[in-house]
Amino acid sequence: MSGIGYYALYLVPLLALIAYYSRRRVVRERESYATLDESIESGLTEPPTLHPNFILSKCFGSGACVKACPEKAIGIINGKGTLINPAHCIGHGACETACPVKAIKLVFGTENRGVDIPNVNPNFETNVEGIFIAGELGGMGLIRKAVAQGSRAMEYIAKRPKTGGLDVVIVGAGPAGIAATLAAKKLGLKFVTVEQEDSIGGTTYHYPRNKIVMTAPMDLPLIGKIKVREISKESLMELWESVIAKTQIAVQYNERMEEIKKEGSGFVVRTSKASYNTGSVLLSIGRRGTPRKLGSPGEDQAKVVYRLIEAEQYRSKHVVVVGGGDSALEAALDVCAEPGTTVTLAYRGAAFNRVKIKNRKRLDDAVGDKRLTLALETQIANIAADRITLRKGKEEVEMRNDAVIVCAGGDLPTPLLKKLGVQVETHYGS
Ligand SMILES: Cc1cc2nc3c(=O)[nH]c(=O)nc-3n(C[C@H](O)[C@H](O)[C@H](O)COP(=O)(O)OP(=O)(O)OC[C@H]3O[C@@H](n4cnc5c(N)ncnc54)[C@H](O)[C@@H]3O)c2cc1C
Ligand code: SF4
Repeated sequence: MSGIGYYALYLVPLLALIAYYSRRRVVRERESYATLDESIESGLTEPPTLHPNFILSKCFGSGACVKACPEKAIGIINGKGTLINPAHCIGHGACETACPVKAIKLVFGTENRGVDIPNVNPNFETNVEGIFIAGELGGMGLIRKAVAQGSRAMEYIAKRPKTGGLDVVIVGAGPAGIAATLAAKKLGLKFVTVEQEDSIGGTTYHYPRNKIVMTAPMDLPLIGKIKVREISKESLMELWESVIAKTQIAVQYNERMEEIKKEGSGFVVRTSKASYNTGSVLLSIGRRGTPRKLGSPGEDQAKVVYRLIEAEQYRSKHVVVVGGGDSALEAALDVCAEPGTTVTLAYRGAAFNRVKIKNRKRLDDAVGDKRLTLALETQIANIAADRITLRKGKEEVEMRNDAVIVCAGGDLPTPLLKKLGVQVETHYGS
C-alpha cells in the first residue's frame, strides 16, 4: 500500500470519530442550553443548598461531572461545566469527586441568595451549650452524613452532666434523627424523639416514587453496617421500617417542636402535645421547615392535609388544592387525573410565576379540558365538614368539599435558631 493509502487507512476513521464526537458535543450543548433556558424562564435558578462552583480557568469540559451527577443538574455550555438545573442539585458532591482536574468546589448560597448555616463544633454542639445540630440543617445534604452526625452527636451528649429530666430530646426523624434515636437507646439515655409528620424517614419519605437513591455504606447503632450504594426509595422506606421494628425504638409522630427555652442548666422543649425538661436537645430537623398553615377557620379538621401522598385516595371526591408553587400544581394535576374528582386550585397570587414550564403547560391543558378549575387571587375563608368557602376580594363562593391539600411552602428553621441564640453564618457562594 502507498503512503497515501496508509494515511487514509488511519486518517479517515480518525476524522469520522472526531466528526462523531464534535456532533455529539453540539447536540448535548444544545440540550443543555434548552434545560438552562427552561430553568431561567421558570425562575428556578437558585440551588437550595450545597452546589458546585466551576473554576472556569481549570475546566476543559471533560463531561465527567455531567455523567456523575445522578440528578441531571449539570450540562456543558461553551465547553465548560454549568449548573443547568440548579433546583435539582442536592449537593452530594458526586460531581466534585468525578472532576479529573479539580475544577469544582462545593459552595453554599450564591451572590443573589444567601444560605444560613449554623456554626457547630466537631461534636455538633452549637455555641448554645446543650443545643446540638445534626444532618442537613448543619449544611451537609447526604443520608450517610446525616446518619453519622446523628450517632456522633449522641455519643457526646451521653457524656454531658445529668440535669434531672430527660438526657435529650431529639427533634425530627429523618436519617439523622433515626441514627440519633438508635444511638440514644444503645447508650441507655433517657430521651424522646418527636416528629411533626406521621412517617419515618424525613426528606427521604418525600422522594419521588422509584427514585434511585445514591448513598454509601453506613453504620446504624444497634443494627451495624448497612451495605448499600444504590437503593430505590421504596426499599429505603422498608429499611427504615425494619430498623424500627427490629430495635423497637419509639418515635412520637404528629408531634411538632414549637419552642425551646433555656431553664436552669437545661431546657424546656414545648411541642404541639407536651413539654419536656431536658439537659440537651438535638435538632435533626433538616432544612425543609414546617409546612405553612393557612390560618383559616376549620383548618384543624382531618380532611386538611399538607402534602399529597396518594392521588388515588381522592377518586370521586371534591378537592381544593391551595398554593402557587410546583408542589401545588403537581398535586392538583395528579388528583384531577383521577376519575370522578372535581379539583379547584386556589392561589392568592394573580399568576404562577416560579413554576416549571412543563407544569404550567400541563395546568393550561387541564384547565382547557375542564379537568381543573383555577381560583386566582383567592383565599380560603372557611372550611366546614363538607363545604369550603373561597374569598376573592369581597366576593365569597361556597362549594362542596371533601378534602383540602395545602401546599403553601414551609416556615424555615433559621428564625428558631436565631431566637435560641445559635450563631448562624450566611454564605453567599462560599
Ligand atoms: C429530591 C432529593 C433527592 C435526594 N437524593 C439523595 C440521594 O440520592 N442520596 C443522598 O445521600 N441524599 C439525597 N438527598 C438528601 C437527603 O435526603 C438529606 O440530606 C437527608 O434526608 C437529611 O436528613 P436529615 O435527617 O438531616 O433531615 P430530613 O430528612 O429533612 O428530616 C428532618 C425531619 O425533621 C422533621 N421536623 C422538622 N421540623 C420539625 C419540628 N419543628 N418538630 C418535629 N419534627 C420536625 C421533619 O418532618 C423531617 O421528618 C436528596 C434530597 C432531595 C430533596
Ligand atoms: S452536587 Fe450532586 S446533585 Fe449537585 S451537581 Fe454535583 S453531583 Fe449533581
